[in-house]
Amino acid sequence: MEHFNGTLSYSKLKRYEQCPQSYYRHYVLKERSEPNDSLLFGSLIHKVLETYYRQKLDGHYVGPVDDKELIDIFKQLWIESGITRVTDSNQELFGDGIKILTDYAQRNTGFDFTQVLAIEINFEIKIGKFKVIGFIDRIDLAAPNGVAITDYKTNRVMFSRNDVDRDLQLSIYQMAAKELYPEAINIIPVFYLLRHNIRISTQRSEADIDLAKEYIQTLGSQIELAKDFPARLNSNCHYCDHKAGCNEYQKALAGEITLPEVDTKNLESVAVLREQAAHIAKIAYAKKSEMERVLKTHLKHQEALVLGGNEYSMSSMTKLAYPADKTLNFLSQISGVSQTELYQKLSALDNSKVDNFVKGLRKGRSLTEYVQIKGQLEAIAEKRYSPRFCARKVK
Ligand code: SF4
Repeated sequence: MEHFNGTLSYSKLKRYEQCPQSYYRHYVLKERSEPNDSLLFGSLIHKVLETYYRQKLDGHYVGPVDDKELIDIFKQLWIESGITRVTDSNQELFGDGIKILTDYAQRNTGFDFTQVLAIEINFEIKIGKFKVIGFIDRIDLAAPNGVAITDYKTNRVMFSRNDVDRDLQLSIYQMAAKELYPEAINIIPVFYLLRHNIRISTQRSEADIDLAKEYIQTLGSQIELAKDFPARLNSNCHYCDHKAGCNEYQKALAGEITLPEVDTKNLESVAVLREQAAHIAKIAYAKKSEMERVLKTHLKHQEALVLGGNEYSMSSMTKLAYPADKTLNFLSQISGVSQTELYQKLSALDNSKVDNFVKGLRKGRSLTEYVQIKGQLEAIAEKRYSPRFCARKVK
């Protein structure tokens, strides 16, 4: 097939799975647009870590990770990164970068060049008749007799345990690591979520790997045999580089997609319609937020805008905070209830303030000590459960 040369990658598989038309435009027609700031930022942070660790490997370094050195590299590479336009969101990204690297250095206190096997390493493996290519951010030795393969992520959204345990990218990395280091008995795939400064490791059994191989071959054959590439609205349409030329997306934006009446007894069709409605709603919501950002920028310079029969302005929300001593004193006086009793009835700690305070306890403590403190605190906390509707794609 002329649209497919037999080579797959995780990005290709993911793009096709999400939307065949996006795959076709990107990989067959080679329609490429300028990468957005989030993509540039992700590449920049990867580059900073790669540059820093390459220097340390070359220098046979053993010692702590230095936040100042990381930040210096970040500042140098920021200029070349392409995120140089001065906008509010870029200033925010610059601050995000400093915070990510400072937190990262605080957590990764030790580096030993003898423990690192590879940084930004390319791989090429065979799965059935397909060639699968990619690269791994970092590979370390891991006791006993194993290797840890790490992929850095700069996503804002936190991954759930389920996401990590089922992730196809990590399964592919595990297959690649097995070929690169056949003597390794234990392979540990890891996502390092840099914005959250959390390292989540997982495991893949041989059965998991066989399933992943089967899935890759099925999807690969679908791509190979595909005759048409329909647009499939999905939760990432707003970020798609082909949305401007995509009829489905434009129809969804213009509210021209009508959802059919559905037989509520047929749960399969209820689920299908729910997903369609969710994708359309997400597209509309993302567009609304984008327009609001533009209007808010103008409202920095003028009090109100009257446009298209609407008035837009910024208003400040008032939030009341009651200082404990004065409030208890006042309520006790007027109600006759003792301050001790009132304290028990009314007091509750502010979660975000508790979280910040606990984060401050990390300094000067080992990670194990810190994790124990967090565990003890969690045991004290009262847990309240409320039902939450969750929807997740299954393969
Ligand atoms: S906008 Fe959505 S439906 Fe259109 S090509 Fe992109 S991913 Fe596919």
